[in-house]
Amino acid sequence: MEASLEAFKRRFGGRIVLPAEAGYEKATKLDISLESARPAMVVWPRNPEEVAEALRYAQEAGLPISVRSGGHAASGQALVDKGMTIHVGDMKGLSINRERGTVRAQAGCLFSDIDKFTHAELGSKAAVLGFADTVGSGYALYGGFGSMSRKHGLCIDNLVSVELVTADGRILNVSETENPDLWWAVRGGGATLGIVTAFEHRLFDVSTFYGGSIILPENRFHEYNRFIHQLRHDNDLVSINYLMRTPQGPVVFIFLAHWGSQSRAEKEALFAPIQKMAPMQYTVGQYDYFQFQGIFAPIWHSLPSPRRAYWTSGSLKGLENEAGFNSFLDAYFEVWKSVPPSVVMAVMNIELYGGAIRNVPRQATAYWPRETEMLFGLMPTWLDPAIDAEVVAFTRKAKAHLSSHPLAMPEGYLNFSMHEEAEVYYGGNLERLSAIKAQIDPKNIFHRCVDVRSKQGKKAVSGA
Ligand SMILES: Cc1cc2nc3c(=O)[nH]c(=O)nc-3n(C[C@H](O)[C@H](O)[C@H](O)COP(=O)(O)OP(=O)(O)OC[C@H]3O[C@@H](n4cnc5c(N)ncnc54)[C@H](O)[C@@H]3O)c2cc1C
Repeated sequence: MEASLEAFKRRFGGRIVLPAEAGYEKATKLDISLESARPAMVVWPRNPEEVAEALRYAQEAGLPISVRSGGHAASGQALVDKGMTIHVGDMKGLSINRERGTVRAQAGCLFSDIDKFTHAELGSKAAVLGFADTVGSGYALYGGFGSMSRKHGLCIDNLVSVELVTADGRILNVSETENPDLWWAVRGGGATLGIVTAFEHRLFDVSTFYGGSIILPENRFHEYNRFIHQLRHDNDLVSINYLMRTPQGPVVFIFLAHWGSQSRAEKEALFAPIQKMAPMQYTVGQYDYFQFQGIFAPIWHSLPSPRRAYWTSGSLKGLENEAGFNSFLDAYFEVWKSVPPSVVMAVMNIELYGGAIRNVPRQATAYWPRETEMLFGLMPTWLDPAIDAEVVAFTRKAKAHLSSHPLAMPEGYLNFSMHEEAEVYYGGNLERLSAIKAQIDPKNIFHRCVDVRSKQGKKAVSGA
């Protein structure tokens, strides 16, 4: 292995870091995770050819691989014990195609890189990205919900093409017309197919944006959510609210926005009832879209790190049943009140979903949870590893309890979980995805993700 490592170092032009070398600890630190894997090496390819080279060497040397981008998946799948972590962070190329109205971003670009670039090049044009500056390309592989999603769909619904490196080192353009099976699968199928080295995103005008953040006392949770429930058919509306424990006590932290063409005064009037909910902070209206995209960053970066985390999510449908929705809010709030006190950074969130996401048929891409009208998350985050088992057990029990509510559906959002069986995320699309996986990655080289293989596929690789 020593000799071939030297040969690999010569062939591979990018950075390589081994344990105990400078940069290793930074490259293997995850801000949030339950795991702390120690890869045998971290490599930074600079282009798809070097990605293929890294994959070739890893397979020759028998090293399991993982792929790291922003490192934000709380499951910790970006790293792999005693294997090779392929860090896409040195592939940062960005270019605009004005004719197609798209931006092409290499896989190392974080949200903030893409937003800054389109803003500088085109003014008020942006891709459908989420809310935290440091999130990476994993977001776009598993759906990708952002403030434009109810209006324009998920990030995957607005991809025009991707570049994919397969386990056997092929570099493929994947789009509606090139490799159409992979095009179907890569939109939601995530990290199971290969390494995506570039994404081409459709761009949208963001000049009608109106929004900001709000902090309400915890006891206004029901009132706020009932207010949003009344407005749920307005697909220009964006509402995400977090129940959060903060040093100042428990609060409801809200991102609220509206994309409509109404006047500022009309939008102010729409949200006026919130002013009666005793807000401790109200900044809606103060931000333009690009400022809004950055408002979560200071909170995120001020938190202690590394943090333990176990994230899961569920879906609601049938919101026209008002009594049912109210009883879900009661059940959810009860869970909130029973989160163990040792979970110092407890977070639970409710997002208004649906809109344009539901307009795409379920079978059109691998992404399945299209019927969801509201998404709920259970995202406990804590510091002390000694309470890991207690918090995980609590969260699983709470998820099972909430999933038994009449409005709950057996569907989860992969970007907010990854701990459950593939059926939860892929439902009726699992069989097709599994067949594509068997063709493109028969040896299951890309294994640090939800296992989408059929029973036969699992047996074939394990030899069982
Ligand atoms: C602060 C914060 C804010 C968030 N905000 C949002 C939001 O607004 N909307 C939303 O939908 N989600 C959001 N998420 C969830 C986020 O989208 C997921 O955690 C996502 O998986 C993170 O991607 P990453 O590249 O940062 O993480 P990583 O841990 O690096 O990657 C996640 C997974 O994707 C794989 N992967 C990453 N890049 C590639 C690639 N190029 N090719 C193949 N596989 C790859 C990794 O191996 C891993 O399995 C947020 C998470 C955090 C922590």
